[in-house]
Amino acid sequence: MNCDTDYDKRAKHLHKGKRGPPKPSWEKPTSKSRRPHHLNTQVRHITNFMHQWAPPGIKMSYDNVGLILGDPSAPVSRILVCLDVTEDVVDEALEKKCELIVSHHPLIFKEISSINPVDEQGRIIYKMIRNNIALLSVHTNLDAALDGVSFVLANNLGLDDLQFLEKNYNISRKISLTTDVDDSEAVLKLLNYYSAEEAHFWEVDGRKEGQKFFEAIIDQHNVAQLRAALEKEELLKRGSFQEMEVNTPTNNFGMGVIGYYPDSGIAMDEFLHLVCRALDVPSVRFSGSSERIRKVAVCGGAGVFLKKAAVKAGADAFVTADIKYHDYFTENKDFLLVDAGHYESEFPVVEAVRKELAEAFEQLEVDATESVTNPMRIYVTDFENKNI
Ligand SMILES: [Zn+2]
Repeated sequence: MNCDTDYDKRAKHLHKGKRGPPKPSWEKPTSKSRRPHHLNTQVRHITNFMHQWAPPGIKMSYDNVGLILGDPSAPVSRILVCLDVTEDVVDEALEKKCELIVSHHPLIFKEISSINPVDEQGRIIYKMIRNNIALLSVHTNLDAALDGVSFVLANNLGLDDLQFLEKNYNISRKISLTTDVDDSEAVLKLLNYYSAEEAHFWEVDGRKEGQKFFEAIIDQHNVAQLRAALEKEELLKRGSFQEMEVNTPTNNFGMGVIGYYPDSGIAMDEFLHLVCRALDVPSVRFSGSSERIRKVAVCGGAGVFLKKAAVKAGADAFVTADIKYHDYFTENKDFLLVDAGHYESEFPVVEAVRKELAEAFEQLEVDATESVTNPMRIYVTDFENKNI
């Protein structure tokens, strides 16, 4: 249930089977890189950090993420983290003198043609701009990131040995590089910094003497940065740089998470109770059944599109949200489908983002919102029901 202690273990499990040493897909700023921000942390420093964790390039095509409002070079001393940007959240940011709100759900999702303070969205945008409050949203890019929304949910449910449920992100690229620079260590260092798998190199036979060939698998959104870094260090002089699509699924991004309870798992009732306790809800909707729950798939928010993947992976239970009536029907035996609520399954990520930002930017105040932005309420009656 405690997400603090599992970080290293989780990273180790995730990177098991890779050729290189365990390496997170995103780098926390070192104390060295933090120093220049100390006196003047700007909105763009936070944006860059969050985008290292959850690159905007992995968002769903319909989504809108990134710096939605505000000046990238505006100074930041205090941040408010939330799931939804409501008027209450903006008022709280104002009261706490936050210059930046980091939200999961983007405030501007569909195209808007005017901004007037006559509806809620307009009022919020108006108020934020007038008060110099910036907005950074990390939505489906944080859903698909390592240690993102579903990892946090899985941790909250006390699951272990976490892996992505579906790794259908075809973003791996093979980089083939030929160069005659002497310093192969410098080339390898850069390739390893940006690569998902450890880079390797060898001398090219039958070519000009001194030519070396390097190869690495890297994620698509890092290719341009790698190339720029190689050029800046003058390591590409008289060399060639080729990028190829490969079918290697990346370990760094995916959808949903699968994890385990130890030994033979837990009984179904115990599991449902645990979900309610972990997410602080009085009830959950579910269908199907499973005697013992050991292998569990989760997807924070609307994740029922992963039901088939969860069944295929052999999960005893799948916890997600926004399940429609017909999706509750499941012909599989020993499969429990649980709707834990959209807000409920995602709100643990607010604290996870707060914690990461507070650790990376020690000089800033980072708060999780005190507003409960969940618009859905449950009324629990005390009369005897006939239908359930
Ligand atoms: Zn959501």
